[in-house]
Amino acid sequence: MSFIDTSLRQTDPEISKIIEGEYERQTKTLVMIPSENYASRAVLKTMGSILTNKYAEGYPSERYYNGCGYYDMAENLARERGKKLFKCEHINVQPHTGTSANLAAYFAVLDIGDRVLGMDTAMGGHLTHGKKLNFSGRYFEFYNYGVSRKDERLDYDEIRDQAKKIKPKLIVCGASAYPRTIDFEKFREIADEVGAMLMTDIAHIIGLVCAGEHPDPVPIADIVTSTTHKTLRGPRGAIVMCKQALASKIDKAVFPGTQSGPLMHQIAAKAVCFREAQSFGFKEYQKQIVRNAAVLAETLLEEGFRLTTGGTDNHLMLVDLTDKGLSGRDAANLLEEAGITVNKNSIPYDTKSPIVTSGIRPGTPALTTRGMKEDEMKIIGKWISQVLNSPRNEDIRLKIRGEVEELCEQFPIYVDINQW
Ligand code: PLP
Repeated sequence: MSFIDTSLRQTDPEISKIIEGEYERQTKTLVMIPSENYASRAVLKTMGSILTNKYAEGYPSERYYNGCGYYDMAENLARERGKKLFKCEHINVQPHTGTSANLAAYFAVLDIGDRVLGMDTAMGGHLTHGKKLNFSGRYFEFYNYGVSRKDERLDYDEIRDQAKKIKPKLIVCGASAYPRTIDFEKFREIADEVGAMLMTDIAHIIGLVCAGEHPDPVPIADIVTSTTHKTLRGPRGAIVMCKQALASKIDKAVFPGTQSGPLMHQIAAKAVCFREAQSFGFKEYQKQIVRNAAVLAETLLEEGFRLTTGGTDNHLMLVDLTDKGLSGRDAANLLEEAGITVNKNSIPYDTKSPIVTSGIRPGTPALTTRGMKEDEMKIIGKWISQVLNSPRNEDIRLKIRGEVEELCEQFPIYVDINQW
């Protein structure tokens, strides 16, 4: 053998140690970041396979490289399974990330400087929905809608008024931190009234949509983008779905518009995850995510925390820590010491900067993958309360860290890391 063909432990003990350390973290702590999950062994195996070795620029049967027979088969399977799962007219499975999917969608239907209306990042939208520092805000004339001061929910009348004034070419809906159901029909009506196209970014809620736990934008929107690694529990990556009339524009915008060589190991892993998502167990999993989030929210409310909008309809919630005298950053750091990983997050009309914030954004997809249910959510909600109500008490954090490890042992993820 003229190349190094030894185990990772032998070839690179330093990286191997890092992976082992991270494995410990993922197995012995509570992962409550709502955009994270545990991909299955089958997905991980495909991601780590020899499919990473080849260039396959182009699309099935139209590749720019020879030797792509098996790659065509994999991409066709991903497309067929995706179309069946999401009931869409067309799907492109090549976007490397959610950001690349949104870039391609804009590239397909907008010109530089076109007007777009999207949700403000500070109110729950994503960077790619028009943040000034992002390509979206830099190259397009983005205007932002937010949530109402009154109830922290989307105010469709207000959005309609804004759309009428701005006359955008495209309206983008979807969010990274919105705990309530999004009314895609209302967005469609608004888009039609002002002659705009409608794009929905369902990166966070796609799994819920598949299981009927959130209304489905696929029949309604012109373009739907999503990541595959959040509630869908697949490989890190993304997809773009659209009506047949836009298929060619979308495909050209992905390749050669904004990407070249597709990540074929990732595309094959998307096919695996679409297959997993067609099982009955997956629907039940999504329902449990929502039930778990409802119980966690209820527990936090009982413990005296304020949740924006008063609760949640989906997989996440936003906890306002203003009256606890804690910033989101401090709260997330305290919880990490207790073995509970959440992320700090701005709340609507936050007075603190995005790196400090007044809130945290706990979610239930990863805990639910481990098999945790309502009883565990009640225990975890109380642990969060104890840690945040006693920020100066290190002993409480240490005690809870031990209890977290005991709970985690009862809900293992991957049985043996060495079997990969
Ligand atoms: N869109 C939404 C709504 C998101 O929440 C995210 C990621 O958090 C993205 C797009 C971007 O995905 P990625 O991080 O894969 O680029």
